[in-house]
Amino acid sequence: MIIKKAKQHLKWKINDALFGLNIKKISSTVKPTCIILVYHGIDEINNTKFNSRFISENIFEQHIKFFNENCNVISLNDYYNKNFDEQSPTVVITFDDGYANNLHRALPLLEQYKIPATFFITTIRNSGSDMLWADCLDLASNANQSDFYLRNEKFIYKPQKGYVSAKTNATLKQICKGSDYSYKVEMMKILPGAKEITSNKYYNEYWQLLSENEIKLLSESKYANIGAHGYYHNCLDKIKIQDAETELIKSKLYLENVMQKKIDSLAFPDGSYSEELCNKAFNVGYTKLLTTEDYLSKANETPILKTRLVVNTHISLFNQMTAIFNNTYY
Ligand SMILES: [Zn+2]
Repeated sequence: MIIKKAKQHLKWKINDALFGLNIKKISSTVKPTCIILVYHGIDEINNTKFNSRFISENIFEQHIKFFNENCNVISLNDYYNKNFDEQSPTVVITFDDGYANNLHRALPLLEQYKIPATFFITTIRNSGSDMLWADCLDLASNANQSDFYLRNEKFIYKPQKGYVSAKTNATLKQICKGSDYSYKVEMMKILPGAKEITSNKYYNEYWQLLSENEIKLLSESKYANIGAHGYYHNCLDKIKIQDAETELIKSKLYLENVMQKKIDSLAFPDGSYSEELCNKAFNVGYTKLLTTEDYLSKANETPILKTRLVVNTHISLFNQMTAIFNNTYY
């Protein structure tokens, strides 16, 4: 894996140099393929230090401008209905998590360029909590790196890895991914930097989720389609199947109630799924299931399950477009 990553970084550096010398042209990256992309948050200044899943308005505009000029951008519905030319380069845009900035920063650009997108929204705000556990962990670790104990386990901060267990060296993020929601609630209460996130307005953009009214507003745009993304943002194949099924139902009902529209698509949080979960999701009314590229390698033959490429917030436009039209970063 380390060698693979080192090779990838070298390839990106060479690409950037060739692009800088005008030897490679960005238009040459475009190929006839159809790919579904995942974005998360859009911020003002491209601050990946707080949340590496964010890109700036400016970079997002560069992406959609490029797509508009060089390929077809279609809706998720058209993709599932095979309503596009498979011989032409085609892109589907999706957003995960349901950040408030999706409405305030992404939608105006999508409307300006007349580009459709699907927004997969985690409905955690309905539970009384207003922050995703992973954002709380990322931002709190940025604000304060003091040691702490959680369920008698000591956690210490390491610069490249974030909080890790002093005993096992496993990252707190990985431990959380394998835990149920009660563990994450305890973590959010106990993280040394947790209070600073909500008291410092600068962080707002990096964690605030769409309110009920904002979900409604977003769903009223003809360029926005809404899908579900779990209730608590648990990795659904890591929790009890009954709890996962409850999340699938609760998030669907909540969104349908807010928007007064049917929800038929689901992006599995963190891409985490199983064949059993796909069947459960289909039985409760989801006919479009999405994961991310890391997970489809263990895939089953579920025809309604599709994979997506997560936009990399740390690479140049040239390398990003190369990855998109090659359908892989490697
Ligand atoms: Zn997510």
